[in-house]
Amino acid sequence: MRVKKVLMAVLGLCRETVVRGWELDDGDRPRLAVWIRVKVRRRGRCGRCGQLAGFYDQGGGERRWRHIDVGFATCELVADARRVDCADCGPTVAAVPWARHDSAFTRAFEDLVVHDAIVGNKQAAADRYAISWRAVNNACVRVATEALGRVDLLDGLVAIAIDEVKYKKGHRYLTVVCDHVTGQVIWAAKGRSKATVGKFFDALDAGETDPARKRSTKLNFVTCDGAEWIRTVVADRAPDAIMCLDTFHVIGWATTALDEVRREQWNVLRRTGGASAAKELKGLRWVLLRNWENLSGKQKSVVRGLENANRRMFRGWQLKEELRDIFTMGVAAASRALDDWLAYASRSKLAPFVKLARTIRHYRASIEATIEWRLTNGIAESNNASIGRIRTNARGFHNPEAFITMIMLDRAGLAPDLPWASAS
Ligand SMILES: [Zn+2]
Repeated sequence: MRVKKVLMAVLGLCRETVVRGWELDDGDRPRLAVWIRVKVRRRGRCGRCGQLAGFYDQGGGERRWRHIDVGFATCELVADARRVDCADCGPTVAAVPWARHDSAFTRAFEDLVVHDAIVGNKQAAADRYAISWRAVNNACVRVATEALGRVDLLDGLVAIAIDEVKYKKGHRYLTVVCDHVTGQVIWAAKGRSKATVGKFFDALDAGETDPARKRSTKLNFVTCDGAEWIRTVVADRAPDAIMCLDTFHVIGWATTALDEVRREQWNVLRRTGGASAAKELKGLRWVLLRNWENLSGKQKSVVRGLENANRRMFRGWQLKEELRDIFTMGVAAASRALDDWLAYASRSKLAPFVKLARTIRHYRASIEATIEWRLTNGIAESNNASIGRIRTNARGFHNPEAFITMIMLDRAGLAPDLPWASAS
């Protein structure tokens, strides 16, 4: 097999490409440079917009693109960057099959870098490929922008979830919208306000004024938490949509109420001198917040022991678990169970649960809609967990736009395939 043929296969070059030569520079780390060109065609495509355009000139001569490493060697592709005369963009560097416009990396290399940035983080990807963090960040933006130009994530929506996500300490939030059908994130923006939610509906309707053609009128369900800044805008912009309350958020409220009861009991015990009992209660925190089915046998017996050791705590724990059960019931049974639950919670003499009962009464219609339409598949929960993982891996984000890019790449299905998976 000739070297050029080996290079074609090993470097994953497509049939439109011709290998002209190669050179191995044997330094500390070997460097392989491979000269290539696109097979001769009369017309090329504009690198910016992709439409066919006539030859303009040879451009600025040779250009180099970093390609996927070959064993111990780094690899560069070298080619003349000729220009075409695009009807819309003017003289522009012609599109090449191996790289995105205005990138110093090949498409395959860039996809690999972005893949590593998503599964790990940008710094890890930068270290792995010996490029700068900024270069990794630019690659992520380029890949996400290209992918977003290819698909319309806001098309055909019938059920969505609107939620907020923290990106930085000090109450900095993003608003994130998910599609209940695919489970994917479809939109995200900085801020959590009526204006932010309004921007989502602006994007959804894209300037359409005919009510019959507005995409917001096709929305049947919107789930969210109890936030008024979401609910008022939804009621205004998608008045026909049924508003549901995310199960995830309701259970979250109950968990918070239970934790308040635990803290209050802990303080009582500390004051009355039950130091060891107080310490025990502090250690109980994570046991009580977890779901019953996720507890170990030993942890379950600790919770059962509460029935005699601390009646108030046990009552709070029962209320949390019973509320969780209601969301697994059929709508009629759930409605009856909710009546019982509200009565029990109101009489519980546990201030946080008395308050929670009031909140749940206020949102009862939305909660029953959630149960009736089975929009309880934990989309918000799983997306929140993944978004939290992205944030942790990056050790936080200073720039909300960078966070949004990573969320869209990972959770909107825009992540690139591994280069060898998409090679043709
Ligand atoms: Zn163009």
